[in-house]
Amino acid sequence: MPSGKVHDRITVIAAVAAVPVWYATAPVPVDPTVGLALLAATLFSGLMLSPDLDLNSSVYSRWGPFRYLWWPYQKAIPHRSKLSHSYFLGPALRVVYFLVLAWLLLRLGTWVAAQFFAFDRNALSRQATDLVASFWHRYPDHARMTALGLFLGTALHCAADSIVSGIKKRF
Ligand SMILES: [Zn+2]
Repeated sequence: MPSGKVHDRITVIAAVAAVPVWYATAPVPVDPTVGLALLAATLFSGLMLSPDLDLNSSVYSRWGPFRYLWWPYQKAIPHRSKLSHSYFLGPALRVVYFLVLAWLLLRLGTWVAAQFFAFDRNALSRQATDLVASFWHRYPDHARMTALGLFLGTALHCAADSIVSGIKKRF
């Protein structure tokens, strides 16, 4: 398999290359924030939500103090299994895991803040949940490009892994 550095380079090059392709095919008037969504989602998917989170990898360390939140994922998912290294199930599972983590952190953070300030933490959580849930509906173009970027970040990784494994098997 390619090293983490090679995967990172492929991700950055592909994310940057995807923007002009998107621009050439985007409907006029072009909304640059949609292209930004594609760029950000591809980078985030490849550099932060990489399939190699199923391993004590450079991506895992990249999460810094938050990496421990991925520890259950790393232990539960066998390395290079279909649950992590697949084109649709892998990224879908990590996005769901990430959203659940973000929600739990929000609940914890607002609980701590509520010890110092009086505010409706349940209303805030509801707003955040509604924002995520209605993203597809309210910003369909951004949502589509975000989904494409999340897919692309993983697809490039899986393809690179398969190509290198295939070459290694042959020689
Ligand atoms: Zn991998």
